[in-house]
Amino acid sequence: MIKSPSSNFNDRRGGDHISLLIMHYTGMQSGEAALERLIDPASEVSAHYLVMEDGTVHQLVADEKRAWHAGVGSWQGETDINSRSIGIEIVNPGHEFGYRAFPAAQMVAVKELSVGLVQKYGVEPINVIGHSDIAPIRKQDPGELFDWKALSCLGVGLWPSSLTDTDCSDDAFLQALSEIGYDVTDTAAVITAFQRHWRPDLITGQSDEECRKIALSLKSQLSA
Ligand SMILES: [Zn+2]
Repeated sequence: MIKSPSSNFNDRRGGDHISLLIMHYTGMQSGEAALERLIDPASEVSAHYLVMEDGTVHQLVADEKRAWHAGVGSWQGETDINSRSIGIEIVNPGHEFGYRAFPAAQMVAVKELSVGLVQKYGVEPINVIGHSDIAPIRKQDPGELFDWKALSCLGVGLWPSSLTDTDCSDDAFLQALSEIGYDVTDTAAVITAFQRHWRPDLITGQSDEECRKIALSLKSQLSA
């Protein structure tokens, strides 16, 4: 772990409880450019950690401080995401500059880092999410190539267990997405975000039977 301090942080508001872990991709042409931006006072953005493609991890902001990574967003009714979360930026050019697979060495580092954080702060599986989950209209990161399933096997994040036989209505589907945590104001955007995370093979922005069953499965795991 390399300490690369950023001054882009302040105190967490309303206490220092950490309940969310937010994954991002950097969406810039190189890891070096991303690091420069995240520690530049003029950019007014940061994250707690930056994971390079070779697996090198930079700590930019101390866990107890409020890094500036989430922007406007919502999850389970919480809107000051920065005050409640740890943010991890993962180097990848993103959809704008050539989205590509996250290298194995980088994912090993992401896993190690996130397992440690989830254990340290007791982050619930449903609260390990992507930037696009909290801001579906604005954001696409970390995107459909991010291996949420592999993380979930380590206790980091939720993954649908076997799907039920029962389908549900579109209204019930949106209700399930809301209970999972989404702000469902923009239906197409929220379904797209949901698919990127939990049904990454087919992203349509529209409800279908498999999506509905995945949402029901996740919802049942919440109440389990
Ligand atoms: Zn992001």
